[in-house]
Amino acid sequence: MSTVQEEGILLRSHPYSESSRVVRILTPERGVLPLMARGLRRRVEKGEGGVDTFDQVRIVYTFRSGRDLQTLTELDVVRSRQGLGRDLVRFAGASLLAEFLLAHALEEGSPALSQEMEGALDLLLDRPLEQVPGVLLSAGWRLLVHLGFAPELGRCVRCGAELDEEAPLLRFSAGQGGLLCQGCGGDSAGSRLGPGARNDLRSLLAGRPPEGLRGALVHLALLEVFALNHLAPNRPFQSVALVRAGLGSTVAR
Ligand SMILES: [Zn+2]
Repeated sequence: MSTVQEEGILLRSHPYSESSRVVRILTPERGVLPLMARGLRRRVEKGEGGVDTFDQVRIVYTFRSGRDLQTLTELDVVRSRQGLGRDLVRFAGASLLAEFLLAHALEEGSPALSQEMEGALDLLLDRPLEQVPGVLLSAGWRLLVHLGFAPELGRCVRCGAELDEEAPLLRFSAGQGGLLCQGCGGDSAGSRLGPGARNDLRSLLAGRPPEGLRGALVHLALLEVFALNHLAPNRPFQSVALVRAGLGSTVAR
């Protein structure tokens, strides 16, 4: 048994008993860490003690290997992200990113992944509302890349042929993991992407959301189905409907 101090992001928290909560915190060293927080329940509940989901927190816990829940002994907010709650699309977007990480049951730490999530939440918090769709879609794809699921956009995922960048429409097969050439895409039910949408997807993957991204709802559907196929969560992502509603009021369709 050892006492560990780390900084992380509070991804989820739910009541466990009268006085306890179970919290899941993304940490650079141990991935998504489930912790039993005795006596924290009152603090985490709204308005008391000011700990909110998505806050950057410093935690002290006792770690024992082989145990499902580690024991949290201290929690301090390093940076509040309470402001995410001011717009539906910001909060729902952050929730969707958290769902991706929780679906993966990430048991090993990744400093790069933690940094990506931290940066994404800060952008969701700070950027003007019209930039939020691009920020969110880009962050969603970036997290998938960090988790080992980068979509293939350069070569056909079935036959390996190099793809024609100018091709008018190519099928994107979420199940097979990327674009199909015109020959292979004939019998695919995947979404059809034109050169503009494919370029936008490349920019999102590179962490450079295009200015005035068009078709944000189409891109959201693409991200959702790809994440469902590769993260294979126990249930569909609960936040997608809220993100969709938030995007609908944010972007001009
Ligand atoms: Zn092919």
